[in-house]
Amino acid sequence: MNRTGAHLHVSLEGAIGENTPMFTLPMENTQELTLDLGKVTYINSIGVRQWILWTLKIPPDCAVKMVNCPFVFSSQASMVVGFMTKNMTMESLWLPYACENCKFEDSYLAKRGTDYEYPSAGQPSRVSIPEQKTCPKCKTDNLETDFLRDKVFKFLNLARL
Ligand SMILES: [Zn+2]
Repeated sequence: MNRTGAHLHVSLEGAIGENTPMFTLPMENTQELTLDLGKVTYINSIGVRQWILWTLKIPPDCAVKMVNCPFVFSSQASMVVGFMTKNMTMESLWLPYACENCKFEDSYLAKRGTDYEYPSAGQPSRVSIPEQKTCPKCKTDNLETDFLRDKVFKFLNLARL
């Protein structure tokens, strides 16, 4: 955890559950929170509930920017109403890819602005992630998205309700 003036930077690790220290973090006078979720491995149902309770404590004028979100996390954000409030954005997330040819599994860090964007000023949300990539193992162009795109990116619209 790192605080620079009104900007707080927090990295989370391991499973998000009942005792995740961030849930008791004082948020007063924080205008921006950057949450690095790159080392989060899992979130259980208690973690989801605690997370939602925590979002209610975030000051309304505080922007929460989440980076390196693992797939387990973005999946929750797309399934659970209330997981994200309107001042929270996912700035980057890891997506699973698998090779149809040699079964190699890879992941791709999708970034807001390049690969997807939230709806704004009358513009709908946008997703333009690569559907197919070159497999680093067998070198064919058979590395494909290993998830349902419409499902995974639901959070783009859920968060703004
Ligand atoms: Zn391959």
